[in-house]
Amino acid sequence: MTEKLLQYIWQFGYFSHAGLRTQGGEPVHILQRGQWNANEGPDFLDARVRIGDTVLAGSVELHLRTSDWDRHRHAADPNYRNVILHAVHVHDRAPADTTIPVLELEPHISSLLLDHYDRLMQQSGFIPCERELLQVPDLVWTSWKDRLLVERLVEKTQRIEILLRDAGNSWEEVFWWLLARNFGMRVNAEAFEDVARSLPTALLLRHRGSIHKLESLLLGQANVLHGHLQEDYPQLLQREYRYLQQLHPLKPVHRSMNFLRMRPPAFPTVRLAQLAMLLHTREHLFERLLEAADVAEVRSCFDITANDYWHYHYRFDEESAFQPKHLGMSMTDSLLVNTAVPVIFAWGQINGIDAYKEKALHWLQQLPAESNSILRRFEKIGIRAAGAGDAQALLFLEKNYCSQRRCLDCAIGNALLRGVVSNNPALPRV
Ligand code: SF4
Repeated sequence: MTEKLLQYIWQFGYFSHAGLRTQGGEPVHILQRGQWNANEGPDFLDARVRIGDTVLAGSVELHLRTSDWDRHRHAADPNYRNVILHAVHVHDRAPADTTIPVLELEPHISSLLLDHYDRLMQQSGFIPCERELLQVPDLVWTSWKDRLLVERLVEKTQRIEILLRDAGNSWEEVFWWLLARNFGMRVNAEAFEDVARSLPTALLLRHRGSIHKLESLLLGQANVLHGHLQEDYPQLLQREYRYLQQLHPLKPVHRSMNFLRMRPPAFPTVRLAQLAMLLHTREHLFERLLEAADVAEVRSCFDITANDYWHYHYRFDEESAFQPKHLGMSMTDSLLVNTAVPVIFAWGQINGIDAYKEKALHWLQQLPAESNSILRRFEKIGIRAAGAGDAQALLFLEKNYCSQRRCLDCAIGNALLRGVVSNNPALPRV
């Protein structure tokens, strides 16, 4: 038994209510278990209980043992003056303050519930409930995934708020940082964000008309435009970069770009060239995304191909077979899921405009689910992400609930434990 589990049992009333008595022998009737309190003070507020013939209203404090009351020094804490009932798992000894009635819950909690919870907590494997999660009705899964998705986007919004503070509240700047970060994908995300932070949007706007200047700025700042380059085009970019470096002045970022174990189309050189083309051909991208009517319109914004030189190259001075470096559909959708949607949701959340939040959620439901190892493991145990929204919810579930064994905070865990209670009337523990 943990305090968290005891609170959970109290919160949902998963104990037998028949024959409840205080340690003093008076009958207890619980009229209202109260609201769980996440802040300082007693565990449940606004509860109502009848003890003997007297109805009391106030707070309920829960402990594993009665002696915890004294150990936690609640008697001296004014927050606890309103406690009407001290509910404990096991009554070990009478507290110093005998005016607060003590109710021992252990004999009223079903051992089946506790055994089930223990089994969940001890389960190894991908996630603790993997053997039983298919018992949970679809309706529970659907509403839980909807909630998780919003939680995930709210969490991303908090990160965007921090970035906004760094960027002097400029949404364009933050959007540019996040866009570049996602162009870098997982491997080069940090390095790409460094490049973006080193190139303010005002500076990029000034050179927007020249793809050569944009490429030299991005590739130069990424530190991949140095050394003795032989072909004309990289030499041209090198000259441009040296000139722009003097003009602004600019220092390349410290973090180096990673090419290892990457498919050539995802090389940072190619991604930076595509990013330069996006800046060159799409003016006011942030506003365009904000006002885009549907996913098709956003996809068309990202429909770009890197400059001609890259048709025959993945890296400087290394010629390869003809292959235009078009930003593929899966990369486009990844940018939508990881950049456009979170920024649009955050815009709605921070500015109090629900229509943008709804638009972001709607787009996610229209986009296909990505493929990654976590989602494949969910699929193996029978949970398939129907779209990008589902995928985002499942990734959030695994990271923030399952891997931390927060089954008591999870609607799936709740449904499984509730099933135990409803299939087996909560009998006194034997
Ligand atoms: S957190 Fe929820 S989904 Fe994850 S293992 Fe626990 S009960 Fe299952």
